[in-house]
Amino acid sequence: MSAEAKTSLFQFTEFWDGRSGISFGVEGLLMSEESEFQRVEVVKTDVFGNLMLLDGLVMLTERDEFVYHEMIAHPALGLHPNPKRVLVIGGGDGGTVREVVKHGSVEHVDLVEIDGLVVEASKRHFPTVASAFDHPKLGLKIEDGLAFVKNAAPGSYDVILVDSTDPVGFAEGLFGRAFYEDCVRALGPDGILVSQTESPFDERFQSQIQAAHRTLGTLFPHVALYLASIPTYPMGTWSFVMASKTRRPAEDFDEAEAERRLAPFADGLKYYRAPLHRAAFTLPAFVNRLF
Ligand code: SAM
Repeated sequence: MSAEAKTSLFQFTEFWDGRSGISFGVEGLLMSEESEFQRVEVVKTDVFGNLMLLDGLVMLTERDEFVYHEMIAHPALGLHPNPKRVLVIGGGDGGTVREVVKHGSVEHVDLVEIDGLVVEASKRHFPTVASAFDHPKLGLKIEDGLAFVKNAAPGSYDVILVDSTDPVGFAEGLFGRAFYEDCVRALGPDGILVSQTESPFDERFQSQIQAAHRTLGTLFPHVALYLASIPTYPMGTWSFVMASKTRRPAEDFDEAEAERRLAPFADGLKYYRAPLHRAAFTLPAFVNRLF
């Protein structure tokens, strides 16, 4: 067998539906620890670099994490008139805040992650993802995002990014009305909320996407879904919902202004670019029919 066809001794498969899913060649187990919230594992794979699992589900790989982290952060930070104060709920791997602090307008970002072991795992095994944990603009809080937002001062954030695990267990409340109402109050007059909303290919999550869109539609004047292609996430297509108090997510996006904001770090971006913004909100027919 030629060298390039070498297979690893072990395979890890994340099952998406039935016995179908994605399979990785595993070169070795780097970490396996249980926190009070979940099992945190890191494996070294043959072609996706290090891979983090939470309770056996793929959270990020070194090879394609840039897609998700750029696409959860830059659309909102490119749309908001002047984003200064940002809140990230979840996101304990640090990838989202790594993108947020690139924006010159941002004065402070709070990262509220319930599980400190996730932060620890990322610092140990994903140094390029965890690179912003010592950034002077970052405030790291290891606590429940639900309670944090409930107690946040009114109008204290310009952008809230919900970078959480799937809507089950301690993350379930992050997809509900009460949380969204707290976000409305915590956001300033031009506030924007973005939440990851799973894969539109998976019928089990289509109703979740519809529910989030519907609930946010009763709380924000402008709500829109956008997509990104993430090879290692279930079904390969991922969705985000954006809810905005003043600017319409796609129609009011000022591409020239976004280019200006991105210019200092655009060379380092690997997925998001200003012309892609509106395209991401242009949905395939089967997704568009959900609304
Ligand atoms: N990109 C991943 C995805 O789309 O599934 C998310 C990665 S990030 C590691 C998800 C984080 O959300 C986890 O570290 C988890 O501990 C955190 N989380 C879940 N529920 C939370 C809550 N109620 N408050 C704060 N963090 C929470």
